[in-house]
Amino acid sequence: MSDAASALDDFIEPARPAQRASRQATVRWGSRIVTLGGGAPVRVQSMTNTDTVDAIETAIQVKELAVAGSEMVRITVNTPEAAAAVPHIREQLDRMGVDVPLVGDFHYNGHRLLTDFPACAEALSKYRINPGNVGKGDKGDRQFAQMIEIAARHDKAVRIGVNWGSLDQELLARMMDENGRRAEPFEPQQIMYRAIVTSAIESARRAVELGLNPDNIILSCKMSAVQDLVTVYRALARRCDHALHLGLTEAGMGTKGTVASATALALLLQDGIGDTIRVSLTPQPGEARTQEVVVALEILQSLGLRSFNPSVTACPGCGRTTSTTFQEMAKSIDDYLRAQMPVWRARYPGVEKMKVAVMGCIVNGPGESKHADIGISLPGNGEAPAAPVFIDGEKALTLRGERIAEEFQALVENYIEKRYGTATRSEGQPA
Ligand code: SF4
Repeated sequence: MSDAASALDDFIEPARPAQRASRQATVRWGSRIVTLGGGAPVRVQSMTNTDTVDAIETAIQVKELAVAGSEMVRITVNTPEAAAAVPHIREQLDRMGVDVPLVGDFHYNGHRLLTDFPACAEALSKYRINPGNVGKGDKGDRQFAQMIEIAARHDKAVRIGVNWGSLDQELLARMMDENGRRAEPFEPQQIMYRAIVTSAIESARRAVELGLNPDNIILSCKMSAVQDLVTVYRALARRCDHALHLGLTEAGMGTKGTVASATALALLLQDGIGDTIRVSLTPQPGEARTQEVVVALEILQSLGLRSFNPSVTACPGCGRTTSTTFQEMAKSIDDYLRAQMPVWRARYPGVEKMKVAVMGCIVNGPGESKHADIGISLPGNGEAPAAPVFIDGEKALTLRGERIAEEFQALVENYIEKRYGTATRSEGQPA
């Protein structure tokens, strides 16, 4: 054995996400029960951007987000009219057969809205309370208590959601003053981190004192910069065992928002921190609101935490393939598989774990295709106009001519039916 090989002759630990021992929280609507934390899969949340007063438009967007894969959907409840609309949104969703739990987002007047509109309090499955926006001093304490008591009475989950943009300023000022009296004061940024974590933990402690079941509490401390978010959540995770909701707040739009969210969430999820996630993307003009759900699912699937859709491996292309055929084919297969998933998820259990490869030339094409469940290696520049197809690691056939894309799609459909279809479903396992 060469020196290089013997140097590698040790066991190499595979990377995998850690698991934090958190309490399990439960969010319910009817017979739908969504568990968070305590070893449950990391859940995906999203938020509408419709005017909640428009019950129909809001219900339609909630349905779109749920169909895209959101397991809870948050709606703004900011006015009496919005609170009055919440039961109608719930009824409309129930009529459409959408049992996704609704989360009410409250700021400033949540105590009044939940008191004045008991049907709203009942129709929501979870309340989001921002301790920085419940009021000041004793009044704030009373208003916070009012919301918690309503949640306890209705047995609802509560997310105590601190946001650095609306941090409790009295708490921050007090902690800054205390720090100023220290012989060796901490940096102001460290005090800000401590204030954010303290606000969440102290609010949770108070909620339990007020009678809320600790299993009904989820915490979050959202920041808008990646390193701030990682710092704060690591501190929060060490100091409490509540389920944690993760999200980079105000992530921005497009590539920036997507990359920043994925980076921040991946760092924390790999540490086992985070039981629910939301990707706070600003939709680009014309972009669907569901894009934030698409990104959240991709983050969890990329980390190997959950599987939602078959994955399509495609090479980036290079000077060895100047045609766009393989790019178009990779996209059309990816689009096709995603479009079928709402139906296939039930019809073909396990199909979400399938791997498809669409590769541009002979260099990595056959190798990558063999590692997929089904893969095709398209001809690069100067290669024979033939596309070998590999199924379960073996070369199965070669496609030629103008209809390679359609024929490969038919092969994929055939593979899915054979591997995940009725015959194997009755045995409860894919072949
Ligand atoms: S598989 Fe071929 S075409 Fe694709 S990136 Fe590699 S060398 Fe380039």
